[in-house]
Amino acid sequence: MSKEQRVVELRGLTTTEYTVFMSGCPQYDPYNQTTGNTPTFQNMTVTYRRTPVLAASVVYMARVAANNTTNAANSVALGPIGFAVNGVAIYNDADALLRDAYIYEGATFDGCRGHASPGGSYHYHSEPGPGCVYNDTAGRHSPLFGVMLDNIPIYGALGDGGVPPTDLDDCGGHSDATYPFYHYHVTYNMTPPYVIKCYRGCVFSSSGNPAFAGHTVTDQTCVKAAVQSNYTSFTNPFLALPLAVPPPPPPPGSSPGAAAATRWGSLMAALPLLLAAALAALGGLLH
Ligand SMILES: [Zn+2]
Ligand SMILES: [Zn+2]
Repeated sequence: MSKEQRVVELRGLTTTEYTVFMSGCPQYDPYNQTTGNTPTFQNMTVTYRRTPVLAASVVYMARVAANNTTNAANSVALGPIGFAVNGVAIYNDADALLRDAYIYEGATFDGCRGHASPGGSYHYHSEPGPGCVYNDTAGRHSPLFGVMLDNIPIYGALGDGGVPPTDLDDCGGHSDATYPFYHYHVTYNMTPPYVIKCYRGCVFSSSGNPAFAGHTVTDQTCVKAAVQSNYTSFTNPFLALPLAVPPPPPPPGSSPGAAAATRWGSLMAALPLLLAAALAALGGLLH
C-alpha cells in the first residue's frame, strides 16, 4: 500500500442508503504491525442505512457475550463488524482462533493498534491509538470512531464531559447529552470486549462479510424496538464526502492493465479533494 492510493469514497446516496468504497488503507503508514501478513487493498463497498433502526432484541456476535459469558463459537463473527471513518475495518474481540484478540495478538499491533489478517485486511480490534483516527479532548465526549454494520455510530471511550460512561448497555451503547441518539463507545482503558458485544440495530446488509450473509434482515423481517432513536443530529462524515462516480468497466477487448492504470489515475487526481472533505468532516466533529 502506498500513500497515493489511500481512498475512502462515497459511491452512492439515496434517501435511505449510502454506499462507501473503502480501500482498507489508512491515512497513515506506520505499518510496523508484526503479524507477518502484508496489509493489502481490500476495496470494500459497504452499504449503510442513513437512519439506523433499533431492533427489539440484540444479536451477540463478539467473543464476550451476555453477562460476560463466552459466546457460542458459531455465533462469533470474524471479519469486519464495522468501519472506522478512515476506512479501516473494525473487528470484534476475537482472533481467528476465537481467543481474546488483544491478549493473544496485541503484541502484533502497530502504534495505531492495527494489524493485518492473513488475507491482508488491516483492522482494529479496539480503540485505535491516539491521533490515528481521532483525538480525545479533555473534558469532552470522544469524537466519532466509525459506523458499525448495524448503521449505528461508535465513538471513542469518553462520554459527556470527557468521563467514561457508566450507563452503557450490554452491547456497549447508550445515548447521552452530547449525542442524544443511541450510539456505541469503545471500552475505556482497553478492557474486553474492546469494541461492542452485540448489535442493537437491524443489520440490513452483510457488506461482503460472509459471517453476516445469512443473518441480515429486510424491512419486513426487522423486528423494531418500540422506542427508536432520532438520528437527525448525527453528523455523518461519510455523507460529507463528495459523491464519486465509480470508474466505468473497461470496454470489451481492452487491456486490463491499461484500464487499471486509468482507474488509479482518476483516483489519484481526486485524492486531494477527498482528503480535504474528509478532514473537514472530521474537524467538524471535534467541536
Ligand atoms: Zn486481528
Ligand atoms: Zn456517548
